[in-house]
Amino acid sequence: MKRDDLTDPLLSGNKYRKLHHLIEQPASTLQEVWSHGGLQSNAMLAMAALCQRKGWQFHYLAKVARHVSQNPVGNLALALDLGMQLHEVAVDVYEQKLQSLRQLSQPGTLFLPQGGADPLAQQGIARLAQEIVDWQCEQDIETLAVVTPAGTGTTAFYLAHALPTLQVLTTPMVADADDLRMQMGVLGSIPENLTILTQQKRYRFAAPYPEFLQLYEALLHAGIEFDLIYGVRMWHTLLHHLSDISAEILYVHSGGLTGNATMLTRYR
Ligand SMILES: *Cc1c(COP(=O)(O)O)cnc(C)c1O
Repeated sequence: MKRDDLTDPLLSGNKYRKLHHLIEQPASTLQEVWSHGGLQSNAMLAMAALCQRKGWQFHYLAKVARHVSQNPVGNLALALDLGMQLHEVAVDVYEQKLQSLRQLSQPGTLFLPQGGADPLAQQGIARLAQEIVDWQCEQDIETLAVVTPAGTGTTAFYLAHALPTLQVLTTPMVADADDLRMQMGVLGSIPENLTILTQQKRYRFAAPYPEFLQLYEALLHAGIEFDLIYGVRMWHTLLHHLSDISAEILYVHSGGLTGNATMLTRYR
């Protein structure tokens, strides 16, 4: 297990990796960061924490959900406490607003796509890959499969690119395998060592399922907490395919545990 979840409580796991280029950037180079997406997003929280530490203003565009934003909980409450400025817009103008954000070009202002799905993420993920290779050498492991869940697929994509001699296994959380391939295709050609595992049953993104709660508890009992949206579901799919995998398995824990409180409330 690669314990990337222990990097930083707010900037955890692959968000730390994906934002690494900004973490290293001098604070004086930016004033404002804009992004967009869901109101419980782990990427949103990571960006809010980063901007707070750098002294950058953080603006976040989201589709209006007043019942959520008037009683903020979970990642949204944490991000607002960190100074995030939330801009809620009606569903029918969201795309239009987003389009104008993408065209922002004032110096000192940066637009980050949803989930940090940006070529700038490559640098930090390449560093993760190097740590994995070093560890593999140290442990003298011949064949290694690296497992990590896919939201936007940015992490799995750049990991596979940076680890051409290893197998990288992932599974789509938000869409199906074809949609994931399409989204990854925006970043470049999909490496051959990247395998997208799937299951017959269709799961809705971030929805509660009894089998996930059961596995969450089993993993917790085994000693490690995983996030209920990505990690547990990745494990569920991985266990389903386990008999087909002959390599040793390294699971990259991508953090995201701050979201578990709201997920557990929904399970209750
Ligand atoms: C954001 C997140 C992911 C998805 O990462 P992508 O690079 O968008 O595929 C996976 N796992 C956890 C825990 C996350 O927070």
